[in-house]
Amino acid sequence: MRKQIAAANWKMNLTLEQGSTLVNDIISASLMLDKDHLVVFGVPFPYLTSVKQQLAGRENIFVAAQNCYSKKSGAYTGEVSAEILHSIGVDYVIIGHSERREYFNECNAMLAEKLNLAFEYGLKAIFCCGEALAIREAGTQNSFVETQIKESLFHLTAEQMTGFVIAYEPIWAIGTGKTASSAQAQEIQLHIRNVIGAQYGDAVAQSVSILYGGSVKAANAKEIFGQPDVDGGLVGGASLVAAEFSAIINSLK
Ligand code: PEP
Repeated sequence: MRKQIAAANWKMNLTLEQGSTLVNDIISASLMLDKDHLVVFGVPFPYLTSVKQQLAGRENIFVAAQNCYSKKSGAYTGEVSAEILHSIGVDYVIIGHSERREYFNECNAMLAEKLNLAFEYGLKAIFCCGEALAIREAGTQNSFVETQIKESLFHLTAEQMTGFVIAYEPIWAIGTGKTASSAQAQEIQLHIRNVIGAQYGDAVAQSVSILYGGSVKAANAKEIFGQPDVDGGLVGGASLVAAEFSAIINSLK
């Protein structure tokens, strides 16, 4: 079975102390993690090392950066490279979140560069894609997301794509309380898997974990994650509340 993943995206929230308490509360809750389940904490850069230390010795629970830069190294004040993340033992990196695309002008080609660097330094990427409301209303979401995938991922090898992680996150559902229906999530996530299958073959497509993100909560996680092509979730707001995120973890199939 491909990996089922509950990934937290704290965004620019929580102090060090609040974050540390949250992680403690979650890892000391009764989590039902089996061997195909993964939990990932996407935390602000300054907390990566301390959260990683908190998770030491825990199987299946990892830390993620929320971004990395598209250049290898050099005079890019304020940016953090894949190499730097690798050097402090970071496991995962979120690439292409819609907030990065919207507020920091990250385009598909730039995200392709970030992915290359993530692979070069052994980081596992969680690649985000998803459409805005106007695209959903026009009914062109499948072709929009397909273009995002093709332009950022299709230069990767089949080996790199095997076990890759994608998060489908409709922008209209992020932080809005408006979740895609489980049928909407399933429909487009199956499409994403088919697009990957057409390029890389079915075995690779079946190995890719495709998460859903957009107002996932304890109350809706089980139904959404229960869809055959939804392999868990990328969770913003609800990942900041221990009881919510623990219940979301326990909703993985
Ligand atoms: C996100 O930040 O990726 C996200 C899905 O946020 P929320 O769960 O708050 O909608």
